[in-house]
Amino acid sequence: MNDFYYRETDGVVTLHCRALDSVPGVRHCFTTRRGGVSEGYLATMNLSFSREDKENVTENWRRLCKAEGFCFERMTLTDQTHTTFVRLVDERTAGMGIAKDSDIKDIDGLMTCLPETPLAVFVADCAPILLCDRVGGAVAAVHSGWRGTHGGIAAKALQKMKEQFGTEAKNVIAVLGPCICQNCYEVGQDFKDAFADWDAEHLFIPKGEKYHFDLKGANRQVLERAGVEEIYITDECTSCNPDLLFSHRATGGKRGNMAGIIQLTGNR
Ligand SMILES: [Zn+2]
Repeated sequence: MNDFYYRETDGVVTLHCRALDSVPGVRHCFTTRRGGVSEGYLATMNLSFSREDKENVTENWRRLCKAEGFCFERMTLTDQTHTTFVRLVDERTAGMGIAKDSDIKDIDGLMTCLPETPLAVFVADCAPILLCDRVGGAVAAVHSGWRGTHGGIAAKALQKMKEQFGTEAKNVIAVLGPCICQNCYEVGQDFKDAFADWDAEHLFIPKGEKYHFDLKGANRQVLERAGVEEIYITDECTSCNPDLLFSHRATGGKRGNMAGIIQLTGNR
């Protein structure tokens, strides 16, 4: 049986990890293009407010929250700039991004122990990673493109969860949602050179003068080295499925954003 499955609620199609589904008191999903009201190249479930599609995006978030049982009023969004910064979401910041104006700036990961406070990261080829402390009752959502991956943002999130909540990596379930696959991710020598300080040879397949980079495998390495034992990574590729998923590469940047979302429900 596949570790992941798609489901549809009122037209909203989302991808779920069975193992994370089975953890009590936690709700999560990875969104697709299906179920929203945006049009053209943003069709239909664009979730980013950065593309002059504000009214539609707000409606998309409403539809998504209703379908998946997320708290719309407290949905909290990142402000992603390919950093490795992770921010604690507390009562003041909960809801920043949609229901409340946001002072969350240059942040690629969010974490919280508050119930009914969904955390969302945006992706369209980059890797969305959801972290859940099974024992401590804390969650995090991380955006990991190649820069975030290189800087180990998932490990930094785990370190911050440890400092803030006492999270032990061995109690964490990590789930990586749809992102670009190795076959679709062609990179040049400069990119490979940037990983010279990594143990990364096995993550590059040479192809002529170029390479193909394994973004999923690189994030698995970050998570494993941080001590996470339970890791689920979907086979789904954004660039292989541009009709179902938003892909930056497959569209030359004319695309909307999907989200990876995690929320504690308060019923543990
Ligand atoms: Zn692909």
